[in-house]
Amino acid sequence: MKLLYGPLYSRRLGMSLGVDTIPHKTCTFNCIYCHDGETTCLTVDRKDYLPPSRVLEELKLLAGQREHRNRRMDYITFAGSGEPTLNLSLGRYIRFVKSVSPVQVAVITNSSLLWKESVREELMAADLIVPSLDAATEETFLRINRPCPGLQLDKIIEGLKTLCRDFTGSVWLEVLLCEGINDGEEELRCMSRVIEELNVQKVQLNTVDRPPSLEEARPLSRERLVQVAALLGPKTETVEDFLTPARQALERGVFDRISSLLMDGQPRNLEQLCRRFRKSRQEMIKILTHMEKEGLVERCSAGSTRQYRGAKGIKSR
Ligand code: SF4
Repeated sequence: MKLLYGPLYSRRLGMSLGVDTIPHKTCTFNCIYCHDGETTCLTVDRKDYLPPSRVLEELKLLAGQREHRNRRMDYITFAGSGEPTLNLSLGRYIRFVKSVSPVQVAVITNSSLLWKESVREELMAADLIVPSLDAATEETFLRINRPCPGLQLDKIIEGLKTLCRDFTGSVWLEVLLCEGINDGEEELRCMSRVIEELNVQKVQLNTVDRPPSLEEARPLSRERLVQVAALLGPKTETVEDFLTPARQALERGVFDRISSLLMDGQPRNLEQLCRRFRKSRQEMIKILTHMEKEGLVERCSAGSTRQYRGAKGIKSR
């Protein structure tokens, strides 16, 4: 398991070096929009999923560094393909990075364990917390996040409020909307009331951007997203995903190498591409999503495995 991935460009954080201390798809939720497929270990069990000595050894690489793999970092971010707060030593890792690195530390969390005082305390050493909240009613919560049994939305919202009250750094709330699931008028009215009570610096409105776990998770149009942002109040902004010229230059070489591999028409799955190009799953998913938007690759499936091949006509480009 690779702990550090990137730095890669994040729509919300700029150049972010990811730290993933949770095994793939070990999560408290099984969101219908998850770009990493179904949760294979649905749990609320907090423990050291990896030996702390191994994690700390790898984090030592960051000591005194502003750059990693020749890219300047805006944030070192605890995130990944599972829920970071499931890690019992998260607070220790955050404090360690803060003590050795000049780079700001962020934590991306699905908020599910914020009702626990111990979890909130562990996050206090970070500079930025990016919690998410996709529902304001229990029914929608169950439908979109498909949580581990026992998790209750009202307790999660209370935990989030307490965190926002006590945390001295910045909190940016993320709300991800799926068409016909959590974008109804009543749901948004409730969400707006919850947001009013949260002391957050901003609310980042997002929609389905990468291939979701369930096909029913469909994106909102850009126009609708802007409409909803206005409805949720002045702190709300939409999260744009576009390739800036600087980013294009960074990614283009990888795009070209993946394109020439897939030109033979033979489909490859995510794992094969990650191994071949020495990228983490997170990085590869982002790259393939952009390549798909540009018409360079297309998705196909073999059973439940998602695969990619060169888009038809790509040979003639
Ligand atoms: S989107 Fe995040 S919170 Fe939801 S299942 Fe995937 S990893 Fe877990």
